[in-house]
Amino acid sequence: MDAPRFAYQPLPVRVVFGAGVLGELPAEVAALGAARALVLSTPGRRAGAERVAALLGDRAAGVHAGAVMHVPAEAAAAACRAAGAAAADALVPFGGGSAVGLAKAVAKETGLPIAAVPTTYAGSEMTPVWGITEGGVKRTGRDRRVLARTVLYDPSLTLGLPPAVSAASAMNAMAHAVEALYAPDASPVISLMAEEAVRALAGALPEVVRDPGGLPARTRALYGAWLCGTCLGATAMGLHHRLCHILGGSLNLPHAETHAVLLPHALAYNAPAAPDAARALRRALGRDDPARALWDLSGSLGLPRSLAGLGADPAHLDGVVARALAGGFANPRPVEEAGLRALLGRAWQGRPPDA
Ligand code: NAD
Repeated sequence: MDAPRFAYQPLPVRVVFGAGVLGELPAEVAALGAARALVLSTPGRRAGAERVAALLGDRAAGVHAGAVMHVPAEAAAAACRAAGAAAADALVPFGGGSAVGLAKAVAKETGLPIAAVPTTYAGSEMTPVWGITEGGVKRTGRDRRVLARTVLYDPSLTLGLPPAVSAASAMNAMAHAVEALYAPDASPVISLMAEEAVRALAGALPEVVRDPGGLPARTRALYGAWLCGTCLGATAMGLHHRLCHILGGSLNLPHAETHAVLLPHALAYNAPAAPDAARALRRALGRDDPARALWDLSGSLGLPRSLAGLGADPAHLDGVVARALAGGFANPRPVEEAGLRALLGRAWQGRPPDA
């Protein structure tokens, strides 16, 4: 950055990081002044959530295992009722973006503080962004009430995350860092975090997929994911996130995998208009063409690389283009139809971003 001009507002989240820090949860909940924490999880993670509640002992108000991807309004309402019935005075989401998203939906209504225990790389725990889905439409917004007060990142909790889910979740995280680098509200501090995040994740992921139970690579990946979440919380996202939102919502595509497919293509589109970001990514990835490097990384991790492979019907292409052209987001390169169609065409067919 030649002549920096920026605003930077750090968000007041306490982060406790390291293998075994889950053991500090009771003290962290007590430090919030809470005595009855409700543990939230997806149904599939109930057993883990029960263990977290047992660890909290007297400070647990129970477990509500009703988290669902994209926070349906009914799930949010049920969790609010559960928090009220349990007289909860804090929320402990245990899991990925679905559990954290549910806690945010409850916090938005009740103001209850959140001590989050993330077990994927999605990064929602570091942002004041909430989302609730009603009638097939996901509304999102920013509200400081939903920002976690404390986040405990314990990489040992990620050892059981399946390799394919880990890889997709991490590429979703990396998208936050990539778009933070060229965001209109980027700052030198966030750019440092973003570059370090991409370096950490890209370095760790091949090892995570090869040996999912290996703690050192898992630790490095979760460290990168924390940084990515911080980037997401601090900046406005661009074309890549807009396309993922459109595709995820209207075509019901899997969230993290859609990010993984689109990221190299969105970056290839934007890189010429974002030279500082491209330079940072070249350093982080150790390659001259960062978009191609991400596409190669996805392939080596065994991730899907085409929207068609995710089940996206090409008949929807025109609709996606029209919605993206409607704008409503900042992007370093103006979004124009021919370029957008070329980008989406390559992503749909699974061609490399430079093909
Ligand atoms: P997720 O929370 O649905 O988790 C994916 C699956 O993995 C779930 O079935 C979950 O139970 C399981 N799982 C979680 N941790 C596990 C572990 N350690 N071992 C084994 N299984 C585990 O998905 P996600 O990718 O973490 O989050 C995606 C959601 O988060 C989307 O709804 C997305 O919109 C949202 N999100 C929100 C923000 C924000 O700032 N608001 C940021 C990123 C993502």
